[in-house]
Amino acid sequence: MAKVHNYSAGPCILPEEVLKQASEAVINFNNLNLSLLEISHRSKDFIEVMSNAQELVKELLNVPDGYSILFLQGGASLGFYISAINGMKSDGTGAYIDTGTWSSKAIKEAKKLGNVNVIASSKDKNFSYIPTNFEIPSDANYIHYTSNNTIFGTQFKTFPKSAIPVICDMSSDIFSKEINVSDYDLIYAGAQKNMGPAGTTLYIVKNDFLGKTGRDIPSMLDLQIHIDKESMFNTPPVYPIYVSMLNLQWLKKNGGVKWIEGVNNQKSELLYAEIDRNPLFKGIVATEDRSNMNATFVLKDESQTEAFDAAWKAANISGIKGHRSAGGYRASMYNALPLESVQALVDVMQNFEKTNG
Ligand SMILES: *Cc1c(COP(=O)(O)O)cnc(C)c1O
Repeated sequence: MAKVHNYSAGPCILPEEVLKQASEAVINFNNLNLSLLEISHRSKDFIEVMSNAQELVKELLNVPDGYSILFLQGGASLGFYISAINGMKSDGTGAYIDTGTWSSKAIKEAKKLGNVNVIASSKDKNFSYIPTNFEIPSDANYIHYTSNNTIFGTQFKTFPKSAIPVICDMSSDIFSKEINVSDYDLIYAGAQKNMGPAGTTLYIVKNDFLGKTGRDIPSMLDLQIHIDKESMFNTPPVYPIYVSMLNLQWLKKNGGVKWIEGVNNQKSELLYAEIDRNPLFKGIVATEDRSNMNATFVLKDESQTEAFDAAWKAANISGIKGHRSAGGYRASMYNALPLESVQALVDVMQNFEKTNG
């Protein structure tokens, strides 16, 4: 079977060895002669999985003391509401930066709880840049932003120091580069972009941030309850947590976040250099705001679409069609995508120039 270069935007590519280990645990986990899927989440063997996964998050991201690590359900889409209900006072305000589909959805959910102040937006240019001319209001309960805009292909490279708590949706770039966790009060990320399979959402929350809203928060949405129960208030999503743990072990074994950041930079530099060099293609977003995870680009001549699609499909490339709201192409280069897969796409683009230029 020929190798497929998997550029899927999410759920995304995982390392082959992780998939193998994961499949073994479905049949026989830890030599128990039982499947991971059929043992109690309160068993010693699963509790070890949970604590290993939490430890790996802590270690790989240098999470300081005073933070808790949770693996919950509901996806990042429930994270929009969970982050707001745990952060916004009952008569308070949440400040938001709107950089595309996912931040717009976060704004929509927060509005159900109270005042939302959208302090900056790149909607005027179809989210093709990261706004910079904004001031973080001192009277909001928090500022929320989306670190990487999976659909449009923009990414915050820096974020201003904030006097108020910072909440960040890091679904599509967590573990792709080094971050300073102490800059944040709450980080959340759906697993299926860069951490593991779909089905769990990572929360990294500063303990001091919680308990200040004056709200009666439903138990399943209350981060403090999940902290008190060590992320096992109810049955956790055991399998996605296990596979995420395996993937984080893979990352650690290979050199951790610093290592993968180097690899990710190499991959994105290779592809963007070709997008800029090749006269048949052009990037969609502002150069300085380009995402290292999701590279978006278009053919200058749309009439070549069919021919180009046939060319990359013939090279066993999968998943580079752009999102319907952005059009064109999107190459998602998450951690497990090897440099050789990016080279394969670049080769296709170069050959396409020779035959169609
Ligand atoms: C995919 C994505 C989401 C939605 O995640 P779900 O887990 O499907 O709810 C939210 N934010 C960002 C940045 C994403 O990439």
